[in-house]
Amino acid sequence: MAKVFNWNLGREMAYPYEARSPQRQFAFVFNINRCIACQSCTMACKSTWTFSKGQEHMWWANVETKPYGGYPKFWDMKILELLENANSGGQTWSGEGKSAKNPYGRFEGKTIFEAAENTLVPDSARVLGYLPADEEWNSPNIYEDNPVGDRGVRYQLDQAGVQLPIHKTWFFYLARICNHCSYPACLAACPRKAIYKRPEDGIVLIDQSECRGYRKCVEACPYKKSMYRGNTRISEKCIACYPRVEGTDPESGGQPMETRCMAACIGQIRMQGLVKVNADGTWAEDRAHPLYYLVHVAKVALPLYPQFGTQPNGYYIPPRWVPRPYLRQMFGPGVDEAIERYTNPDRELTAVLQLFRRSNLIIYRYEIKEGKKIYEGTLNGKPYALHNDTVIAYNRDGKEIFRTTIEEPVHIRPGVHANSI
Ligand code: SF4
Ligand code: SF4
Repeated sequence: MAKVFNWNLGREMAYPYEARSPQRQFAFVFNINRCIACQSCTMACKSTWTFSKGQEHMWWANVETKPYGGYPKFWDMKILELLENANSGGQTWSGEGKSAKNPYGRFEGKTIFEAAENTLVPDSARVLGYLPADEEWNSPNIYEDNPVGDRGVRYQLDQAGVQLPIHKTWFFYLARICNHCSYPACLAACPRKAIYKRPEDGIVLIDQSECRGYRKCVEACPYKKSMYRGNTRISEKCIACYPRVEGTDPESGGQPMETRCMAACIGQIRMQGLVKVNADGTWAEDRAHPLYYLVHVAKVALPLYPQFGTQPNGYYIPPRWVPRPYLRQMFGPGVDEAIERYTNPDRELTAVLQLFRRSNLIIYRYEIKEGKKIYEGTLNGKPYALHNDTVIAYNRDGKEIFRTTIEEPVHIRPGVHANSI
């Protein structure tokens, strides 16, 4: 296997192909603290791409209730268990060598590519994975709203943990799509080389004319976001709504637009963009890009299961009420710093968080104009001031898309209405 640099892990790792970075990379940030599990994203995707015969079980975008929910059933517990069995007790982060390039320090365990080198017959599989059984795809929203608690005890309310910062009775909603990984496991596993990563935006696609339905991608993807379609005998996956991202959607006016699942988000938890990347796969410095700011400057958004090794391009602001060991397993060692920063936001973070879902066009740059102080007091026991700053978003061509303020504007309606009583 070749050696590639994985900045999520702070080290080189084995991967079947040489690294080749796209000009820009499709990436997104989801703020889990805001998700209400309305499933508008799920249905926006379903009604656009997977409404046909043979796609009934296919949910390219889904929202599952953690810790028990999962689509397919128990996908993350299963792959974590396989990794643990392959490297018992060794799946740890040393945190060494933290730098701008390695914000989470070093991962000392094995990725799904490295674990496959030692545990499987060479070349029978390049990636450690498993093929879910048909029935595991049957219940996409299983365990919806199920909190943790003692098994078999109903209506149990944990009196000791009903206040922030951490609840003892908890659940949260994890919204998921394909991560359009920098080192895709689906692509690595395909014996027909039918899967490719686009050089212009890093979107990972399955060439439908090349695929023969061997399901190696379904087996290899640790996030289980490649899916098999029985009536065509071909695998399919999220295509990142690429006509929208390319700016060829009739509504776009020629400008890159965010995907359908992002645009439909009622909770305003989602922001998607195209980030600049260096030749080694790290993000190029782009200080005024909102995703670069959230991931690399504020460090509030973290990769989903970075230890798998695919360098996913989906980043999450972790839910602040959930026990930290669970979150550290899911998002890596950056969790405590991310929650501390999100809970006590500075002026810039407060402004950037206003950019979520004010427009469906992709934001390439933001700018903040300072406004007057509107509140002074304390937040979480610390001195705090809130300013009514204005944040301005710009499109690919440097044109303003919108501007918004921290304080919501007050609209005073005229006193007489048709239905006035
Ligand atoms: S999430 Fe899975 S299907 Fe998507 S690019 Fe990564 S490995 Fe491939
Ligand atoms: S649309 Fe947004 S708020 Fe609703 S379930 Fe999806 S991610 Fe959560």
